Amino acid sequence: MIRQAPVMRICISCRKTYDRKNLIKITKDHKQGIMFQKGMGRSAYICKSKKCYSDSKIKKKLQKALKTSLDPEFIDIFEKEITSYNDYSNQGI
Ligand SMILES: [Zn+2]
Repeated sequence: MIRQAPVMRICISCRKTYDRKNLIKITKDHKQGIMFQKGMGRSAYICKSKKCYSDSKIKKKLQKALKTSLDPEFIDIFEKEITSYNDYSNQGI
């Protein structure tokens, strides 16, 4: 039996490698702008640890990774998105 190897990606904050399923993907979509877990375009991954997503430098790191400038409101949306995924995983789904 050949098992498919998990797709590994690096968290842009802690630089650790994780299974892509355990990361939040942030994509700069060509048409729709910044999207979470979907979209086509340049992407960055971040793990779900609070240390990473609440890092004061995370916006800068994302801007660099996505090669774009992010709105000041972005960080609020970003934190809400990530915490909602965390709630989801805490429920054991
Ligand atoms: Zn991380």
